[in-house]
Amino acid sequence: MADDSGGPVLVDIVVSGCDIVTIDERNSVIRDGAIAVDRGRIVWIGPAADASVRYRGRSVLDGNGRIALPGLIDAHIHTAQQLLRGKISAIGRTRALKQPIWKNYLIPFESILEPEDVHLSGLVCYTNMLRVGTTCFAEAGGPHPDQMGEAALQVGIRGFVALSTVDQSETIGASVPKSMLTTTDEAYQRNVSLVNRWKDRDRVKAWLALRQIIVCSPELIKGIAAAASDLDVKIHTHLCEGTYEIDYAGEKFGKRPTEYLEDLGVLSRHLHCAHSVLLSPEEVDLYAKHRLSACHCSFNNYSIGQPRLIEMWRRGIDIGLGTDGAAAWGTLDIFQVAHIARVAQQAVAGVPWHIRTPLTSDELLRIATMGGARALGIEKEIGSIEVGKRADLLLCDCTEIDQMPVDDPLFVASSILVGRDVRTVVVDGQIVMKEREILTVDVEEIRRRLAVRLPVVMERFERAIA
Ligand SMILES: [Zn+2]
Repeated sequence: MADDSGGPVLVDIVVSGCDIVTIDERNSVIRDGAIAVDRGRIVWIGPAADASVRYRGRSVLDGNGRIALPGLIDAHIHTAQQLLRGKISAIGRTRALKQPIWKNYLIPFESILEPEDVHLSGLVCYTNMLRVGTTCFAEAGGPHPDQMGEAALQVGIRGFVALSTVDQSETIGASVPKSMLTTTDEAYQRNVSLVNRWKDRDRVKAWLALRQIIVCSPELIKGIAAAASDLDVKIHTHLCEGTYEIDYAGEKFGKRPTEYLEDLGVLSRHLHCAHSVLLSPEEVDLYAKHRLSACHCSFNNYSIGQPRLIEMWRRGIDIGLGTDGAAAWGTLDIFQVAHIARVAQQAVAGVPWHIRTPLTSDELLRIATMGGARALGIEKEIGSIEVGKRADLLLCDCTEIDQMPVDDPLFVASSILVGRDVRTVVVDGQIVMKEREILTVDVEEIRRRLAVRLPVVMERFERAIA
C-alpha cells in the first residue's frame, strides 16, 4: 500500500487509535484501530500500529478514547416539522387535542410554511441530526422539498428529500388545507420532476411520495408506483399507522391497507412504509413477499399498537429506525430510538412467552445502521465500516466516568452511547463536525434566523388551527 517511493500513501483522512465497531457481517470490533479515507470512501481498516507506515492523512483525526461507528440512519423524518418541536404537547396542556394529529395539526402546520421557512427547518433539522450521529435520512414528504435538499447540501448530510403528496381529502379529522392538496396529475408531475431534478446529485437525492392511503387516490397510487419502477426510486409513505386507517380501508375497500395496495398492484421493493404497526399476519407476509421496506419509529409506534419489529427483522424484511421528526416526540437521537425499541420489544414480544432478550442491543444497533441502509436501498454504499463503502463515520467519546469501563466497545456503542456522545462526524469523506463543532454551516447564524422566524411562523400556525 506504499506509494512508488515506498513511503506512506497520501489520503484525505486518517483516523487512528479508536476502537472500531464495524457492523460488518461478523460484527467485528477492532481495538486500537485505524481507518483511511480517500475520495469519499473507506480505503483501509486495520491496527493503528500499521496505519502510520501505510498512510499519511491530509486530515488526521485522533481516535484515542473514541469508538468509531458507522453513521446512524433516520429512515423516517419530517424536516418541515422541525420548528413544531414541543408545540403539540404545549397545545395539549391547554385543550384536548383533535385526532388524528397529522391531519389536524401537522399538515396545517406544513401548509403555512414559506420556502424560506422550510430551508431554515432543514438547516436546523440536519444540523441537529449530525450532532446526534445521524448521517443519512429519508424525508417522509413535506412542502418545498427543493429547499430541504439545498439545506442538506449546505449542512453536508446524506439524504433523500420528498414532496408531501395529497390529491384527495376524505372526511377523517380535519380537511387538508387547499395549499397542500393538488390534482392527481399535478401530484404525479411534481413528484417525477422533483426526482429528475435531483437524480444527478451525489449525496442528496429525491424520492417519490404518497402521504398515506386516506389522502391519495387509487389513480395517483398506481401512477406513482409506475413512476417508481421507471425511475428505479423509492416511494415514501405511511402505512398501517393508525386504527382510523385500518377502519377506512375496511369500510371503503373491505380490505386491510396493505391488501388494498396489493389489489392495486403497487407492492414492490420500491415502497418504503413508515410505522407499519397495525399489520395483520397476512400483511407481514405481503411485506416479506413483495420486499416492502419499513421504518420503526419507537417513540410513536408503541402508543399505536404492538409492532412486530423482531418478527419482521428475523424474516429478512428491510427495516430501519426513525424518529418521525421533532414534532413527534422531540428528539432526533436514533441511539434513543434503538434503546426504546429494545425495551419495548421485550415488553411486547419477550415477556408474553418468557423470552429473556428477544432483540439484543447489538441487533438494534445493526438495525439503526445496516437495517436503515437496506431499507433505503443503499446497503452496498453505507451502513457499516468496511473497505469500499462511502465514509459515513462517527467518533464517539467513551472516556467519561459514567461510561466506564469500556471492556466491550460493542456493548458501549449499543447500550451506553447517546447522541451527545458523538464528537466527530464524517459524511461521504468530509469532516462535517469536529469535536462537536459543525464545520459546514454557521450555527450562530441559524440560531439568529430561528429566533426571528419562529414567532412569525407560530402566529400563522395558531391562526390556521384556531
Ligand atoms: Zn411520519
